[in-house]
Amino acid sequence: MDCRTCTKCCRTLPLDSFQRAGSRGREPACTLCNNDARRLRTPLPVIQPDPVQVRLNNTFNLWHGPVSRVPLRIAA
Ligand SMILES: [Zn+2]
Repeated sequence: MDCRTCTKCCRTLPLDSFQRAGSRGREPACTLCNNDARRLRTPLPVIQPDPVQVRLNNTFNLWHGPVSRVPLRIAA
């Protein structure tokens, strides 16, 4: 079986793992690397704020009151 070494990840993979590039034969990077690059380029979808989670976070973060410049004395 014909194998090639990817120029990015240095894995030795069968020729099928390299996309065809017309007259140039095959792409130098494997499909796995190309997919990784595409995933990194694609922005993640916006996260919709969940009102219940916001309330929980605020309750948790303000459990001991808002942040103060005065040091906390109840911590002995
Ligand atoms: Zn690769």
